[in-house]
Amino acid sequence: MRLQEAGHAVELREAAPHLGGMISPVRLGSVEVDSGAEAYAVRGGVVRPLCDELGLEVAGPQGTPHIWWRHGTFPMAEGVLGIPGSLDDPALGVLSDEELAAVAAEADLDRAVGSDATTVGDLVRVRLGEAAVDKLVTPVTQGVYSMPPDRMPLSAFAPTLLEALASEGSLLAAVAAVRGPGTAAVEQPIGGMFQVINALAERFQAAGGSVRTAASVASLKRGGPGFQVSLHDGEVIEAERVVLAAPAAVTSVLLSHLGLDVPAPPVRTARSAMLAVSTPELADNPVGSGVLLAERDDTLHARALTHYSAKWPWAAGREHVLRLSYPEHVLPTRADALRDASRFVGVEIQERDVTGFASIGWESMPTRIDASNRDFIVETALEAGVDLVGAWLDGNGIAAVVSGTGRVLR
Ligand SMILES: Cc1cc2nc3c(=O)[nH]c(=O)nc-3n(C[C@H](O)[C@H](O)[C@H](O)COP(=O)(O)OP(=O)(O)OC[C@H]3O[C@@H](n4cnc5c(N)ncnc54)[C@H](O)[C@@H]3O)c2cc1C
Repeated sequence: MRLQEAGHAVELREAAPHLGGMISPVRLGSVEVDSGAEAYAVRGGVVRPLCDELGLEVAGPQGTPHIWWRHGTFPMAEGVLGIPGSLDDPALGVLSDEELAAVAAEADLDRAVGSDATTVGDLVRVRLGEAAVDKLVTPVTQGVYSMPPDRMPLSAFAPTLLEALASEGSLLAAVAAVRGPGTAAVEQPIGGMFQVINALAERFQAAGGSVRTAASVASLKRGGPGFQVSLHDGEVIEAERVVLAAPAAVTSVLLSHLGLDVPAPPVRTARSAMLAVSTPELADNPVGSGVLLAERDDTLHARALTHYSAKWPWAAGREHVLRLSYPEHVLPTRADALRDASRFVGVEIQERDVTGFASIGWESMPTRIDASNRDFIVETALEAGVDLVGAWLDGNGIAAVVSGTGRVLR
């Protein structure tokens, strides 16, 4: 769309049978919901303006996320990375009386305590105690970032927290100040994240853009006005410019046809299972927007559950939509999903209540690439006249990918 606005005639070729890549829907029972990304980060102010421009109404998530322990489920702190912003936060219910007293005593500590901390774990440990690290923060950082708090630099994950501690005098007050009132960290267009793809495709085609799906690019050569792009089905396109917005492995192969050696960084697989169920007890949203697993349990294979239709109420109808995340090595079956979902929500979901099921694997999830390597790759391709965009270079996440597309307007 941006290239069209800059006056280019653009042709889009997509290997999959539909547009969207990791922002694609799946039909479950009577509802179409996100099968990959479900929300964008509000921080950075990149995606909301795009949604506004596309005429899409957006909303933040509903319901509190929960943390699942074998002995019960507790709400996640309304704070920063599991650190609460107040002693009234129901998340503190997971602590024993003694552990809670340690958190309460934080208000009496000198504000300098922890001011030299470098990681989230260090800071929480010295101010709120070890139990707060283990029971409040670790389940959140592991569940969201797959990282223990001791490996998370404050400068990267909570850059303003130490400054707020110095001005507010306590960590709880600092968290409340940093978080601010009612600020959702993520949002989605009403109807699902994939509405962005539908709206973009509509705009693109209305402006004369040509789109083909199930049209996989096979090779890239110099020729014609600049490049010859050949597809597996025999189509050949001659183009002045080429933008590769494909995963790392495909991009690496296509660049090799131009004599460029750009090794693809490693990828991982994200696995999930989705269920649509008609179980009436779920109408009370027993785990709010979902749960993260805090402690291992051999009978549970999923790591987290999102009650998608509670989190994004536009998706709530006769059926409830549940999404379970699994470790890479587990290929979840319908029976696995049903059993794990029942444990997580604390309600026995019956097989006869299931109206839709999908087991989904995304095999090109990018891993982190350092900035100097990214710049080298982008510039190497650019010297050959090819623009590169995508999460494998710009970081996994919609906001990062959208920001990176600015590069093509050179
Ligand atoms: C389960 C899951 C949940 C996520 N949740 C979130 C979230 O909540 N918030 C968030 O911000 N991010 C989330 N992400 C990450 C986000 O979806 C991605 O970072 C982003 O969508 C990646 O975009 P991309 O264009 O780089 O790659 P992709 O979306 O993978 O797009 C690459 C496209 O290239 C196509 N392609 C491949 N080979 C060829 C070829 N030879 N010819 C033509 N086309 C080709 C592919 O079919 C694909 O459509 C999630 C991802 C997953 C998988």
